[in-house]
Amino acid sequence: MKDRYKHLYTNTERKKYNNTSRKRVKLTKKQRVLARLSFGTLLIFVGIVLLGGAYRFVQDIIRGNDSDTEDTEEIIEVPALVGVAERFPDLPITEDFLSINEFSRPGIVLSSNPEYVVIHYTANPGSTAKQNRDYFEGLKDSHFTYASAQFVIGLEGEIEQCVPCNEIAYCSNSMNDNCISIEMCHPDEGGNFNDATYNNCVFLVAHLMNYYHMDMDHLIRHYDVTGKNCPKYFVEHPDRWDVFKDYVKEYRRKFKQEDE
Ligand SMILES: [Zn+2]
Repeated sequence: MKDRYKHLYTNTERKKYNNTSRKRVKLTKKQRVLARLSFGTLLIFVGIVLLGGAYRFVQDIIRGNDSDTEDTEEIIEVPALVGVAERFPDLPITEDFLSINEFSRPGIVLSSNPEYVVIHYTANPGSTAKQNRDYFEGLKDSHFTYASAQFVIGLEGEIEQCVPCNEIAYCSNSMNDNCISIEMCHPDEGGNFNDATYNNCVFLVAHLMNYYHMDMDHLIRHYDVTGKNCPKYFVEHPDRWDVFKDYVKEYRRKFKQEDE
């Protein structure tokens, strides 16, 4: 090749090369844009899936991972529970409210719905629901102590309601402004319960917990609040306490189905 053409050749070759190179660059840009778009979409998709998983994970933790528990910790506001006897006609409930007084019924309305049910025993063997209710009433005159409960369940399953559900009773110490307290009567010092008392307590607790959408672990013993030996039988026989809670759980399910 003559020298004077050499320059021309080189230029042409360079141009050729540059052309291909530019073409290749153009293609790469397109691909990059496409790749970025696809990658971006993928990232968003993965993000949504991960966020969804994380949300479910956190929800599971909040629910205590108990898939058998049908209720959540989510607070569901319901109207104050009044007229319990009419609402649960399958139970022998007598509305026999105490007089408003400093020692057993201060008349303080709870600031929100009760969140717990606390179980007690009367520690007064052989006494009836009415006798325990009257003892609370008598405190307004005797000033002997501060004591009461929303409900007392007697030896024949009879239920005395002493204080409305959304009012404070003096029964469960630090939990008083956040719970419904239930006293269970018992025939003897051992503190075990008659079937009638036991069964109606299961039914009442199941109804109340369903009404307030309480989580199952919000059913506790007085013992769980203060360490007091109350209710004696369920503190000394924790396995029987577990059985009691299982019955409540079973009847909550049953009553819920009946309501649907
Ligand atoms: Zn107690």
